[in-house]
Amino acid sequence: MNKIYLDNNATTPIDKKVFESMKPFLNSEYYNPSSAYESSQKVRDIVEKSRKIVADFIGASSSEIIFTSGGTESINHAIKGVAFAHQKKGKHIITSSVEHPAVLSTCEFLKKFGFEITYIPVDKFGIVKLDILEKAIRKDTILISIISANNEIGTIQPNKEISNIAFKNNILYHTDAVQIIGKIPYTVDNLKVNLLSFSGHKFYCPKGIGVLYVKKGTFLYPLIHGGHQEKRRRAGTENVAGIVAIAKAVEVANTGMKDEKNKILFLKNFLKNKIIENIPDIRFNGHPNKSLFNTLNVGFKYIEGESILTMLDFEGIQVSTGSACNSDSLQASHVLLAMGIDKVDAHGSIRFSIGKYNTKKEIEKVADILPDIIMKLRKISPLKRD
Ligand SMILES: *Cc1c(COP(=O)(O)O)cnc(C)c1O
Repeated sequence: MNKIYLDNNATTPIDKKVFESMKPFLNSEYYNPSSAYESSQKVRDIVEKSRKIVADFIGASSSEIIFTSGGTESINHAIKGVAFAHQKKGKHIITSSVEHPAVLSTCEFLKKFGFEITYIPVDKFGIVKLDILEKAIRKDTILISIISANNEIGTIQPNKEISNIAFKNNILYHTDAVQIIGKIPYTVDNLKVNLLSFSGHKFYCPKGIGVLYVKKGTFLYPLIHGGHQEKRRRAGTENVAGIVAIAKAVEVANTGMKDEKNKILFLKNFLKNKIIENIPDIRFNGHPNKSLFNTLNVGFKYIEGESILTMLDFEGIQVSTGSACNSDSLQASHVLLAMGIDKVDAHGSIRFSIGKYNTKKEIEKVADILPDIIMKLRKISPLKRD
């Protein structure tokens, strides 16, 4: 059975051009970029060319780009790197209640070292409350880390306003931009952002390569110590194939983003309208328009998301109950709970995240099958109303 993959916020298939671009570096061009002979220098040149492409894509300069192993590492580096480098100034960090676990767990870890964390609440659409953010700022606040766009519900934060608040108060601002980079044009020069994290595998690149943007003049400690790679900011022999791949993924995104957006948004609205037409007692989670164009998070009353996911999987349709990182813990999504959705309803939510390889035919099939599945599950549900 051909699978229908609608979990593109968890990871994406690899673009063919990206795959082709990295192949030589897994084969004949295996050289260590730090070695001295000509073959190695050629590889080093390619790494630097790739860095320039990635930097240009987000409006940064090459020296501001650190290659990492992915979103999680970039986020850890940003938050821990700032925390340990600035702890003399203060030990207070502000984040939000709708962050990815990479941010939440890093902040929790820092508590062991005496850091205090404030979690800014969100409104019913998942948007951070800016007035509370302003009031939360203290003399000893050293960092604000707030996600750009949420992976579960797609809500896009008012990044510009947040960066203005941080800048005005002379506080470093980091954003987890993993879900936005590669989907929506996004440059660091019109945001007063000091640190920005993103990851290749969320936009058609393989897993294991990420980027941390560090604005010139931003002081932070390295996370990984060792050799002199990445200007001593991230030790370890470079993931050359990954670096080449993410540069190609950036080029592919640059040329395709606009068409993809229109196509994917059309598919999302098609699915959304079909759900509205054919299934009663539903709710769409997230902001109706300040949202990623590919993400549709739907709450189905009286049933559990896990059961829907399993039934869809039997039909070859792959979705998520929200965050892949939570899917084995069977806990209600912290993001939905933060938005004020009650526990039972939060359990009945499914995230469809559409990608550039999805077709109208696939979405039609999903729209066809879904009402039956929901009806069947509601029939046997103990939560069902009388
Ligand atoms: C996937 C994701 C991450 C983690 O990135 P990895 O490259 O998988 O480590 C962090 N934040 C958000 C919003 C994500 O969607």
